[in-house]
Amino acid sequence: MFRSTRVPRPLRLLLALFALLAPLAAACGKEGSPPGKGPAAEKLPHYQVAQGFSLPGSRTWTRAKKRGYLVVGVKEDQPYLGEKDPATGTYAGFDIEIARMMSASLGFPPRTIRFRTIASANRETALQNGQIDYYVGTYTINANRKKYVGFAGPYYLAGQSLLVRGKENDIHGPQDLDGKRVCSAAGSTPYQRIKADYPKAVLVAYDTYSVCVDNLLTYQVDAVTTDDAILIGYAAKVPDELKVVGRPFSKEPYGIGVPHADTALRLALDDALQARERDGDWKQAYDATLGLSGVPAPHPPAIDRYPAS
Ligand code: GLU
Repeated sequence: MFRSTRVPRPLRLLLALFALLAPLAAACGKEGSPPGKGPAAEKLPHYQVAQGFSLPGSRTWTRAKKRGYLVVGVKEDQPYLGEKDPATGTYAGFDIEIARMMSASLGFPPRTIRFRTIASANRETALQNGQIDYYVGTYTINANRKKYVGFAGPYYLAGQSLLVRGKENDIHGPQDLDGKRVCSAAGSTPYQRIKADYPKAVLVAYDTYSVCVDNLLTYQVDAVTTDDAILIGYAAKVPDELKVVGRPFSKEPYGIGVPHADTALRLALDDALQARERDGDWKQAYDATLGLSGVPAPHPPAIDRYPAS
């Protein structure tokens, strides 16, 4: 869309910014027009809802059953993963599909899910306070977080990477970040890794990565860092303005966050993931969402059924 060389650069940048932020601005949504290369709705799997499913050992499940629907925490500004259409309020992406297939396995029709957008820094609190039943949003499983929440999965393996402007020539990897302004989301593992391992980088934190990208396009920061899966989505929206550079420099196994004490729910979700990986739903969901970024479906990582602590 922004390929024409006759459009002056400042205008191109503005247009690019608009294209990137349009899905987030309610006023700009055109009815029935999915974002650029949005999920292929007709290709999404139809998840079989488990009949007569019961999980009395799970407080979360029992409470949701009484309530009549699940409340699931997600992201809303991560293309191909978790993205909210401002016109319709509908969420789409790979994480959203994982949330839906899990709902069906727990006996709740996916269309009844109430999605709540929760930023990276607020996930543990949201699960601890019972604001959400589970969380699916590029949520890395690690030992520190396991002190506060439980994780089913992993269901995908990402890696930390860097997003820069298309014309950037100096940044090829994290070793080039000395003195550069690098943006990431507060409370995220990529933010923590830059802080610990690349202390000469000038770190800037916002609640969301889309604000970081906005800052990158307007020359207020030099790079955005987070998982490759997330960055590829932003780059795909404005390929003439942004590029992902270097090789991933961490392992980010994505898990489904659950309340810490609810081992019954965690293990039921592990079973459900395993079943959906076996019956092809996982791959079909991937192909219709994250797969649109051009990365073919990998083998899902082995599920880690760790003992309750
Ligand atoms: N996967 C990383 C994390 O959980 C970065 C992505 C995110 O912030 O959701 O911190």
